Amino acid sequence: MSPTAYILRQSVAAKRPSRWDIHARYAMRLPDATVDLPAGTWLLALPEAGDNHSYPPHYRLADGRIVCLDAPLTAGQADPLTDPQALAALTAYRSLEQTVEEDWGLQVEHVDRNAPFRLIQCPLCDGTEFVTVGFAGVWCDRCQAEFHVRHTAGDPGFAVDCTFAHYQPTAARYLLPRSDELLLTMVCKNGGGDPLDLTHNQHCHRDDCTAAQVALTDGRASPLRAGLHACVLGDVYDWSFYGRVPTVYNHDQHGYYTLLWPDGQEELWPRSAFVNVNGFRWEDKQKVTSAAALLATSTPAGYSPDFGSLRYRDELAAFLKEWAQRPSHPPVVGYRSIWPKRSQLQEGERYLLHRWLLHKEKDDGWMQASPVWLVVTDAAQEKYDRRWRVVRDNICPHCGRPVSQSEWESQVNEKRPWDTPHGYCRDLWAQHNWQPTLMD
Ligand SMILES: [Zn+2]
Ligand SMILES: [Zn+2]
Ligand SMILES: [Zn+2]
Repeated sequence: MSPTAYILRQSVAAKRPSRWDIHARYAMRLPDATVDLPAGTWLLALPEAGDNHSYPPHYRLADGRIVCLDAPLTAGQADPLTDPQALAALTAYRSLEQTVEEDWGLQVEHVDRNAPFRLIQCPLCDGTEFVTVGFAGVWCDRCQAEFHVRHTAGDPGFAVDCTFAHYQPTAARYLLPRSDELLLTMVCKNGGGDPLDLTHNQHCHRDDCTAAQVALTDGRASPLRAGLHACVLGDVYDWSFYGRVPTVYNHDQHGYYTLLWPDGQEELWPRSAFVNVNGFRWEDKQKVTSAAALLATSTPAGYSPDFGSLRYRDELAAFLKEWAQRPSHPPVVGYRSIWPKRSQLQEGERYLLHRWLLHKEKDDGWMQASPVWLVVTDAAQEKYDRRWRVVRDNICPHCGRPVSQSEWESQVNEKRPWDTPHGYCRDLWAQHNWQPTLMD
């Protein structure tokens, strides 16, 4: 069947349906926006949707937009458009969804009517340019952190997971072990509008939003980038850091860096951000602990009681004891674990995940872990030099804010702990003997 197209003799008011009206599997519907089509406009009639007679006639314009009319065009309103090149141009248009299905064999399912990668910024480097290749993942063009988009648990909007098993730490502000087991998740619940639409309207509710200048996001304390229309954002939940402590240190995957401490100490990293586990059941642990105790006090046959043999025995016993005491499973990094704010960093500084404080939760017996962060700067002298200079170690492991010298020395008012900075943080400090040495 040859395509049917029209050229308007007079102007016509059409409606702009939402994408979801056309793809009927989506239950979402926006209020229709009116589009005035001037005389001379070209319209290509789109096939009707099955036998649904209440479905209004839909047309596509030369720019690809789809509009609908209350009733089919009449001879008085429009003439047939018959020019073969005009028809070829109108019918050559393909929507993104059509192109991807026809050329790549994939159906595009929109997680939300707002496109996540036009709204978010990379939590590791603040990047706003993202790449998708290979028909699957999306990653940050700057630091190569990877992103996966999911539906929320039933609300309109989207959830995004960010993982960093293959990212480039040198391009990021957060230095982490490359791990499959840690991740960040943000959730954006749809506020009913398009945050990219920077026009003031009757739903604008913020005092700082005016027709001359709409209120914009600043990107500083939000998973969303700067420059979005702030009134139309729904509920936005910041990136949450969680998962499991990485346990398998794979030299090929992680490489190593040297941490330079101000007192001259050097340390290999990210080795310190891994925790060894023993994989033991409770019975195994008892047996290995007993073996360690037995070995420590016995002199096995064939051992001459000279100093070297005894030292070897003691080392073995100590190793068995240490092995038995390791966590049996990878410790849990709870939802919303400390992810210090990038606004606390000076130019050139980065956060480095140094190590973990391990503690057993009372109820479930699982080992829990809290990250200990350092602030570092790049100490590389040349291109392949991989050294970080530690400049501060005062990021509170309980609240993520820096601890100053005076805060460290202040006494907590026991009756009003909220009046003292880090008033609620000190139990954790004491429990782990956490003590900053490099404060502001
Ligand atoms: Zn990035
Ligand atoms: Zn507004
Ligand atoms: Zn604190």
